[in-house]
Amino acid sequence: MAKDRILLCLLHLSGNEMKYIQEAFDDNWVLPLGPNVNAFEDELKTFLGNPDKEVVALASGTAAVHLGLIGAGVKEGDEVLVQSFTFCASANPIKYLGAKPVFVDSEPLTWDMDPKLLEHSIIDRIEKTGRKPAAIVPVHLYGMPANMKAILAIADKYDIPVVEDAAEGFGSRYDGRECGTLGRYGVLSFNGNKMITTSGGGALVCPSIEAKREAMFYSTQARESYPYYHHEHVGYNYRMSNISAGIGRGQMTVLEEHIAHHKKLAALYAELFKDFPGVTLHQNPGPEYDSNYWLNTVLLDPTLEIVDQDKAYKEVVTRVVGGAAGVTHVAHDLHTDCEPNANVEAMRMALERANIESRPLWKPMHTQPIYRDAPAYLNGVSVSLFRCGLCLPSGPQVSEDDVRYVVDTMRKAVVSGPRDASCAGCQ
Ligand SMILES: *Cc1c(COP(=O)(O)O)cnc(C)c1O
Repeated sequence: MAKDRILLCLLHLSGNEMKYIQEAFDDNWVLPLGPNVNAFEDELKTFLGNPDKEVVALASGTAAVHLGLIGAGVKEGDEVLVQSFTFCASANPIKYLGAKPVFVDSEPLTWDMDPKLLEHSIIDRIEKTGRKPAAIVPVHLYGMPANMKAILAIADKYDIPVVEDAAEGFGSRYDGRECGTLGRYGVLSFNGNKMITTSGGGALVCPSIEAKREAMFYSTQARESYPYYHHEHVGYNYRMSNISAGIGRGQMTVLEEHIAHHKKLAALYAELFKDFPGVTLHQNPGPEYDSNYWLNTVLLDPTLEIVDQDKAYKEVVTRVVGGAAGVTHVAHDLHTDCEPNANVEAMRMALERANIESRPLWKPMHTQPIYRDAPAYLNGVSVSLFRCGLCLPSGPQVSEDDVRYVVDTMRKAVVSGPRDASCAGCQ
């Protein structure tokens, strides 16, 4: 079959980008500042709809997490509470600062930071270390908003700043408000697989003009105002270039279209999975949640048997996750001590044979070798989700016919089960 490969979420340029890039060429704007950067920041601010917030365009979402933590006052030796069920970029910048990540597990409803466990972890860290954690980093994973009302209430009660990781949640809303504007700082990403792209970039949503100025200061090598280079702080080269911002401006013209498309595919998945026993689609858990459905995700019942399940994990994966083939290390073992169930890996392989990209859910940070020694407050939810879950194609290049083909391929891959039809899935 000569079907093009169906990818999770690869973005495409709309065509409007060239106009803004051409202007940059015409004006010879080669510096990481300029009219496109300012205009892109204004457009982001308008979209976010909160006049109290200010936006700084940066080289990546990871840089935004880093500068958000600095803005929140995180210093070397501090502890930072971060959602364990996330991509590594939510946690790694804590390490960059010489601070210590403390991981908090998820709740089954949103799959994001469990507020009860968050409060327990704060009380326990104060008891164990005599000090309050310096910041809280909740994540809107796969675009699903975290339970921000409960998380912000706890953050307020203990007076701890929130750095809201909305890298996957640009265009999601919680309680009618745009994700990224709910915490003291908010993080956006414009990587090539998020909601819009600048061919690599991100933004920090700041609480004031002063905070924006400080983030800009640190993003341009922390220069003091002298006629020569004089440094009283260690800075970073994190500003977005005027060319990238031109691409971002072109992408802003298709942002609403992208959000609507992701939601349309989510509704179609919901319809098609309704009569698919053993497969549970992750959906908005209540009226205050309005996910952008950046990636549609499902859980496979552990008793669902998938074709060639006995062949799962028998050979080293060469097409590595995230399209990073060539820059990853070679796996030295077929297994790690925490991996998705064999039926999930068999389903991934069945989709792969049909030229469909799928991917296990993100492996929780507290199970990663780099964070083996970090304290973690756990309830089993994130590991259970990781063992049972799969991300499915969801991006603007995925058509409704593609979604039908994906679900059809999954249906054909089922050998038997689930054994107990009343089982609600993984949890
Ligand atoms: C992508 C991502 C980031 C980092 O964004 P980059 O632009 O890729 O640096 C941070 N947090 C989460 C949850 C992400 O998915």
